[in-house]
Amino acid sequence: MVKLYDVAVIGGGPVGSRAAYKLAGMGYKVVVVEQKERLGEPVCCTGIISQECVSSFAVDDGVIFRRVNSARFLSPSGKLLSLWRQEPQACIVDRAAFNVALASRAQGKGAEYVLNSPVRNIEVRNDRVRIEIAGQGAGLGFFEARAAVITTGFGSKLVEGLGLGKVGDFVLGAQAEVEAMGVDEVEVYFGQEIAPGFFAWLVPTLPQRALVGLLSRRNPGLYLRRLMSSLVAQGKIASAEAELSYGGVPLKPLARSYSDRVLVVGTAAGQVKPTTGGGIYYGLLCADIAANSLHQALASDTLSAKNLANYERVWKRKLGQELKVGYWARKFYELLSDRQIDRIFDIIKSNRIDEALLKADDLSFDWHGRVVLKLIGHKALSKTVEMIKLPFPLGRRG
Ligand SMILES: Cc1cc2nc3c(=O)[nH]c(=O)nc-3n(C[C@H](O)[C@H](O)[C@H](O)COP(=O)(O)OP(=O)(O)OC[C@H]3O[C@@H](n4cnc5c(N)ncnc54)[C@H](O)[C@@H]3O)c2cc1C
Repeated sequence: MVKLYDVAVIGGGPVGSRAAYKLAGMGYKVVVVEQKERLGEPVCCTGIISQECVSSFAVDDGVIFRRVNSARFLSPSGKLLSLWRQEPQACIVDRAAFNVALASRAQGKGAEYVLNSPVRNIEVRNDRVRIEIAGQGAGLGFFEARAAVITTGFGSKLVEGLGLGKVGDFVLGAQAEVEAMGVDEVEVYFGQEIAPGFFAWLVPTLPQRALVGLLSRRNPGLYLRRLMSSLVAQGKIASAEAELSYGGVPLKPLARSYSDRVLVVGTAAGQVKPTTGGGIYYGLLCADIAANSLHQALASDTLSAKNLANYERVWKRKLGQELKVGYWARKFYELLSDRQIDRIFDIIKSNRIDEALLKADDLSFDWHGRVVLKLIGHKALSKTVEMIKLPFPLGRRG
């Protein structure tokens, strides 16, 4: 007879493992079904998370490459804004080790991991979900559970197959691990010729090592190769030859993140900051919300979409406004020319807006909505904004 789990989590990334940890800790029988052969495989992600995330989720010291309390922001023509705070604001984690650490925690609570098992279909029945594995997988062919949590990250077709649609908008990313030369601070590069619609970065990890990457509306590999050549010429990295890895980041959430017996969480649901592409913290927060909603539904055995809708209400209450304002800011940035971005750097510097922001309590690595609205409300900046023709109405707030 097939074993019936309480919950099948599809995808053993950070969000899946967090959901599994919480649910297994509540006493449910949980299986995590992951397509990769090993949990510690490299991930196309820079691994920057806030101090708030590290504290909230008690991230192990052992997976942290370094702590960050400063960053250099460079405009298209090379104008520099340096941000520095006394206390570390963020950490750079080893993403592969981070995944393993979160999975170990879930396993410690009793969650089972089944690797090398790409899920190709989820069938929702009256009293259970049936999870079908493509090819040989773990040799089983399928799993059954009372409910499923989909945490398959970017670009999985499973969500669409359940009629929950697609994430509304997205950007593509490319990244490489390189030998760095004397790079000790995070550098962020802006410019439509550098990373159209988004930004690029050079992030030191271990001594002499760094991640160089970008998110972009198009051709991320091409733009990254160009950036790497430029960084070689500037003497910041040793070579432009490193292998590239590719990924994607949603900019808008799914229209609906639940159905009968199913919740969608993390990047698969579009729970990502549109301003930076960071999805780890929001995903972990939503994994906890998902586990709590599922706990109530499992306990009362009422797993209908109507009963699971509370999950979406709660996560949207927490993140909805941030995602909307962040998306708006992202769309606005895309309309700027390189000259306008340069001009904004000048205005920020000459009006000491950067210094004011650094002193403000609401400057946070994770919550950008208030800062975005504050910037729009700033007299000098709003003048520049008004000079730019927007294809959508500008809601003046702040
Ligand atoms: C270039 C780049 C840089 C980034 N940098 C940062 C950063 O610095 N900080 C940050 O917070 N975020 C960053 N992100 C985003 C971050 O990587 C994601 O938000 C985060 O990994 C989301 O975690 P997740 O568990 O939802 O999904 P994932 O980490 O993508 O995990 C999904 C898991 O599901 C598995 N899976 C997929 N489909 C199936 C299937 N059909 N069957 C079984 N298993 C399946 C995958 O193998 C994977 O293990 C970056 C993204 C990119 C592209």
